[in-house]
Amino acid sequence: MKKNLGNYVLAGMLIGTVLGIVGGLWMGDFFLQIKFIGTMFLNSLKMVVIPLIVASMIVGVTSLGDVRRLGPTAGKTLLYYLVTTGFSVLIGIILVNILKPGEGVESLGGFVPEIVEQSRQKSLIDVLIGLIPSNIIDSMAQGKVLPLIVFSLLFGGVLTTIGEKGKPVIAFFEGLNLAIMKLVNLIILFAPLGVFALIGSIVAENRESVDQLVSSLGLYALTVMLGLLVHASVVLPLILKYFGQRAVLPYLRNMGQPLATAFTTASSSATLPITMEAVEEKNHVDGRVSSFVLPLGATINMDGTALYEAVAALFIAQIYGIDLGIGQQIVIFLTATLASIGAAGIPHAGTVTMVFVLQAVGLPLEGIGLIWAVDWFLDRCRTTVNVWGDSIGAAVIARTKQFR
Ligand code: ASP
Repeated sequence: MKKNLGNYVLAGMLIGTVLGIVGGLWMGDFFLQIKFIGTMFLNSLKMVVIPLIVASMIVGVTSLGDVRRLGPTAGKTLLYYLVTTGFSVLIGIILVNILKPGEGVESLGGFVPEIVEQSRQKSLIDVLIGLIPSNIIDSMAQGKVLPLIVFSLLFGGVLTTIGEKGKPVIAFFEGLNLAIMKLVNLIILFAPLGVFALIGSIVAENRESVDQLVSSLGLYALTVMLGLLVHASVVLPLILKYFGQRAVLPYLRNMGQPLATAFTTASSSATLPITMEAVEEKNHVDGRVSSFVLPLGATINMDGTALYEAVAALFIAQIYGIDLGIGQQIVIFLTATLASIGAAGIPHAGTVTMVFVLQAVGLPLEGIGLIWAVDWFLDRCRTTVNVWGDSIGAAVIARTKQFR
C-alpha cells in the first residue's frame, strides 16, 4: 500500500476508534443500527484469514529450503514466546499483589458464563488432542487455526523433500499468498469505517457495564491495564531495541493499523492479515520469518492474555478471601502461561481458558461471572498487546543470523 494512502487509512482508523467509543456512549441506537457495517468488516477479515494462514505457513516453511533449518528458527521462536509471556505474567502477579484490587470488593453472587461452562469439562489433554486435525476441511470451516498450522507445517516440510515434483505446488501457494495479501490491502481501505461501526456498536451494547468499569471493578481493570501498559511500553520495546535492533517509534507507527484493528475486533486471528501486511510491507521484516512467526504467534503467543489471566485469578482469590501462598502463585504463573497458549485468537478465549487456572488452585469458577461484565473492554486491551508482542517477535527472530 502506498505510504500516503496508508497514513490516511491509519488516521481514519484512529479517528474511527475514538468517535466510535464516544459515539457508542451517547448515540447507542445509531450504532446498533450500523453494526452490520462492522460485521461486514469483520467478515472480510475472517474471509482471508484461513487461506492466508495455510498459504503463508506453507510458503514460510518451504522458503527455508531445507526443512532441517526450521529447527533453530522454531526453537528461537518458542523461546521468544515463552520468555515474553513469562515476563508479562510476572508483571501481572507483582501488580495484583501490590494493588490488591479484590480486597473490599463484595462478591456480587457470580454466575458462570455459558461459553465458560461449556469448556468446564475440557482438560489440557483435550487441547493436545485438538492440535491434530482429524479433518482439515472441518478445521477450516470452524476456523480452528492451530490444527491448520500443524497441517501446514507438515505439508510445507514434506513439499521440500520431493524435489521437482514439489515445485509447482510451492509456486501455487506462493501465488495464493500474494493474491491474499492484495485482497488484504483492499480490505484495509474499508477499515476506518469498519472499526468505527464495530467499536461503536460494542460500546453501545455494553453501556451499562461502563459504570462497573469505573466503580467496583475499576481497580481490577486498572491493574490489568497498568500491567499491559508496562509490558507493552517497557518490556517489549526494550526487547525490540536490543534484540531486534529496531528503532521503536517508527516500528510502532507502522503497526498502527493492526493495533487499532486488534482493539476493535478483540481477535488476534482476525487481525492477522493486517498484522502481516504491516510487518512485512511497512516494517520490512523478512517474509520468510514473519510468515512463520506471525500465524503461530497469533494463536499461541499471547502476552496480554497471560497477564490478564494471572491478574484475574488472583483478583478472584482476593474477593473470596482466599489467601494464595507463593507455591500457589507459582502454579498460577505456570497455568496462566499455558492457558494463554491454549487460548484461540478470538474474543473472550482467554476468559474461557481461565478455567484451567482457577481449577489448578481450586478457585470457584463463579468468580469469572464477576469479571465478565468488563471483559469486552479488557479483551480489546489484551488483544492489542498480544498483536504487538507477535510483531516484535517477528523482528527479533528475523534478526537472528540464520537468515543473513
Ligand atoms: N481475544 C484475545 C486474542 O484474540 C484472546 C483472549 O481472549 O485473551 O488475542
